[in-house]
Amino acid sequence: MPTLETLPPEIRALILVALDGYTTFKAAVLSCHALHDAFNASKKSILAQFLRNALGGDEVIAAATRTACIEAHLRSRNNIAIDNVPEFMNGIQAFKEDASVSQSPREYEACMARAHVCEELEVAYSRSFKDRKTDERSCLTVAESDRFRMAIHRLFLISIYIQSIVVLPLCLSVATRVPLFYGEFSVQAVFDLLHIVDWMAKTAMECLPPGTAMRRQGTYPLVCLFSGPLRLYNAYMHPGQADAFLRKVDRRVRRQFGAWEQDILHHRQILSRTGVQPEVPQDMSSVVGLAAGPGLECSKCQARPGERIWDQQNWMHVPRNMRLEGLVDWMGYHLAGNYYERDLFLRYLGVEDPHPKQLRIRNARQINVALSPAPDLTIPRILTELLALPHTGNTKEALYLQRDGFNGVTGNDLLCLPCLEDMVGSRLPVWWGSKKLAAVPDEANKPKCLFGMECTEQKIADHAYDHNHACVGNDFGFLDGYKESNKIKGMYTKAGKRR
Ligand SMILES: [Zn+2]
Ligand SMILES: [Zn+2]
Repeated sequence: MPTLETLPPEIRALILVALDGYTTFKAAVLSCHALHDAFNASKKSILAQFLRNALGGDEVIAAATRTACIEAHLRSRNNIAIDNVPEFMNGIQAFKEDASVSQSPREYEACMARAHVCEELEVAYSRSFKDRKTDERSCLTVAESDRFRMAIHRLFLISIYIQSIVVLPLCLSVATRVPLFYGEFSVQAVFDLLHIVDWMAKTAMECLPPGTAMRRQGTYPLVCLFSGPLRLYNAYMHPGQADAFLRKVDRRVRRQFGAWEQDILHHRQILSRTGVQPEVPQDMSSVVGLAAGPGLECSKCQARPGERIWDQQNWMHVPRNMRLEGLVDWMGYHLAGNYYERDLFLRYLGVEDPHPKQLRIRNARQINVALSPAPDLTIPRILTELLALPHTGNTKEALYLQRDGFNGVTGNDLLCLPCLEDMVGSRLPVWWGSKKLAAVPDEANKPKCLFGMECTEQKIADHAYDHNHACVGNDFGFLDGYKESNKIKGMYTKAGKRR
């Protein structure tokens, strides 16, 4: 029976190339003699093939290599201030995107690490634009995937420029920024970059608590450009720490807001002036081909937002701020700020407080309530229960649910993002009220506060402790707990849609 040692070296080389991930690859080469020998016999071709499998086509390899080489070039300057700008710019422009450039081991490692980030971000991108049911693998075609990854590697480079204290000043002036960032790219390629940055900004915002995301939405394209794809990926994977991963935008960069979007026009002018005329398409095309037909329709507002629409088939992939750990932020400002209700709610979900330092209540009492986490609680299950809340009868809760506009909506009905957010925000406190009474029957003996979840006195420790606030108040009218309490009403139109 053949063993690894008796296999011909070329077969062993094929085994190496087929390994999943660079870490496994390195471990195999370092721990197994047979594979180590095969690797040494044809090091260059094995590494090249492995890189190709991990990165994508020639264009992606070219973009990734250029990013890694310029990064090394900047590192070699040791942060020495740039005194001769034209010389510096010429130095950068001498680096061309070329797939045949050979890399140092350090550059190779950088490309492999970025390949992993590209792969993971592509899955999230695929879910947003290609197929809303994308699960663990991207649904992009090979050509679409290459275009996406090429843009990500170029954005890595832009973030390296902005984060470098010596290059940052050149990023602030359009005369140096446009050639630095976009060089000889086609206008279509620049358009792709801005499109991906826009997607990154939306993805970043969806990692943050809903109120915070609303307040800051305008600045997020800059935050993402500044932070770069790796930090966005980390924020996406660990949304509870998103704020720590995403960099605060430098004050000087912040003043540039708006100018960056104009870059595509400047770039077009530069290309026509210099006669460097890479193919400039008449109309821009999107990274992924759009599906034929009008697209899916929101059952509540009839919007057609492409793949960014949810029913029970993709509830496991709702925005990251709706994960169990962040759900408390959807309870509304006052109820989420009620230390007593908050404590019980988080314990019921079985999660840690996502912002343990934020809530500072004076004279808070010890909470001695026996409450264990509900078993098998998942976001899809909670969404099912939110839509199934009973709305018949004359209780205030039933009247509230009858008027919130989600009556009759089921798990089979599609909801766009603003409608999904409205639904979660308005129904979660009612859901919690019924769950709490079932889990802690003694709560029924407490008096209901007249203002219910909207009560503004919930920050007062004794009042919060002595009254039930997970209920609808006497005076709820048509008000939507979530929108009102987050003081973002001005951002909504009368029909309840985000402006
Ligand atoms: Zn809608
Ligand atoms: Zn109250």
